[in-house]
Amino acid sequence: MAADRFYVTTTIPYVNARPHLGFALELVQADVLARHRRQRGDEVRFLTGSDDNSLKNVLAAEAEGLPTRDLVDRNAAAFQALRRPLALSSDDFIRTSRDPRHPPGVQRLWRACAAAGDLYRRHYRGLYCVGCEQFYTPAELRDGRCVEHGTPPQLVTEQNWFFRLSRYQDRLHHLITSGTLRIEPAVRRNEVLSFVAAGLRDFSVSRSHTRARGWGIPVPDDPDQVVYVWWDALANYVTALGYADGGADYQRWWVENPRRAHVVGKGVLRFHAVYWPAMLLSAGEPLPTDILVHDYLTVGGNKISKSAGTTVDPVGLVAAYGTDPVRWWLLREVPRVGDADFTVGRLVARTNRDLADGLGNLVNRVVSMVHRYRDGRPPDAAAPATPEARRLSEACHRAPARVAAALDDFDFRAATAAVWSIVEEANRYVELARPWHLSRAERDGDVRAGADLEVALDVLVRACRTLAEQIRPFLPDTAARIAARCTPVAGRLPTPEPLFPRAATPTA
Ligand SMILES: [Zn+2]
Repeated sequence: MAADRFYVTTTIPYVNARPHLGFALELVQADVLARHRRQRGDEVRFLTGSDDNSLKNVLAAEAEGLPTRDLVDRNAAAFQALRRPLALSSDDFIRTSRDPRHPPGVQRLWRACAAAGDLYRRHYRGLYCVGCEQFYTPAELRDGRCVEHGTPPQLVTEQNWFFRLSRYQDRLHHLITSGTLRIEPAVRRNEVLSFVAAGLRDFSVSRSHTRARGWGIPVPDDPDQVVYVWWDALANYVTALGYADGGADYQRWWVENPRRAHVVGKGVLRFHAVYWPAMLLSAGEPLPTDILVHDYLTVGGNKISKSAGTTVDPVGLVAAYGTDPVRWWLLREVPRVGDADFTVGRLVARTNRDLADGLGNLVNRVVSMVHRYRDGRPPDAAAPATPEARRLSEACHRAPARVAAALDDFDFRAATAAVWSIVEEANRYVELARPWHLSRAERDGDVRAGADLEVALDVLVRACRTLAEQIRPFLPDTAARIAARCTPVAGRLPTPEPLFPRAATPTA
């Protein structure tokens, strides 16, 4: 059977500031999907990148007294450098201001929509939030301020290009309700459907060269206008595949690929589930198949905000606590719907309870018992398994399908719970089987106890190997270390050593 193909992307963040933990969540989620698919034998391409052309970046550079180019290059490099500390398996990183694949792709998409009759010029007066890079109607504001940023928008008057979004209302509604364009979780799909049902208005897709401070991609045949940054940014999902010339990668990963998934935050859902599909419909190109939406992290009860000092640097966190503890917290604690609150205390507690005590103890115990009772040689039990042992084996057999189903639902908590059921069953089994009793009885000449001990150790070593396999997409390094501890070298398991040290809460 031919392997499936899977293309997965993250959004591309503005690079007006350094990366924060909230974006690390999105990167890690997309990474787990990519690793899981590769493990199943699928062909995978995993794209991430940076949105360099935002006006926000220009303003941040002005505030720092730097040329825009310098600020963008510096911060984009910080995003690109997350790959190693977060153990990301991304295949590609696109920078919208530097990548030669990007501008010609943006312009091709523009021309295709223009050819379809969907772009027109219009005088416009509107309220623009630079933070969101978006126009709002007064009704969409709260006390005259942007709901997302709490800042008053600017009044902008200019002649812009508009995209005929209104034309695609019925088609979008049908594509989403039919599941052709799948949005998970359902609560987010329903949000999009009510937004579409309320009536889609055409939106501005360019701004004046002056207001853009000369930064961005010029509109084809209209050098006084710069392409709206969202149009530019959304196009990255196909420009990185070589959409500009429609070549082999674009055919392979977009046109002929059955699964094209975007992982996005709830704040940018409208752009991904409404604007972007409409642009593609207009251009006559295939749509994404899956839009997978995560909620936000808060930090100590507060929204992540640079100005409020509530950002958490993911690189610093990894340096202090390790890659896998940070990944595990993001995957195990963040719910499918609803915000999750990060504190270092919660990270430390989760690391110690799950990784040091639950998982680390299990593997250390099993390897140590094989050394103590069988001189490091894992038995291959011939005796029939007990009902307790069978229960653990069944948990191991059930886990892969449960992990796959949960990840297909974009539910990382359920997926990690499925992996965790192996740890729980194995720890329970150790207490029930009590290998130390069996060993004592065996030494006293009880042959049956010796056979039961063989079964117990065999089942436990196999469970640890399954655990290593199933936890691999989530904690790649831990998985490799478990596998190494459970793989005999010249017939014997390596000498046991602790898998995870306990983490300590910092004293402030
Ligand atoms: Zn805003």
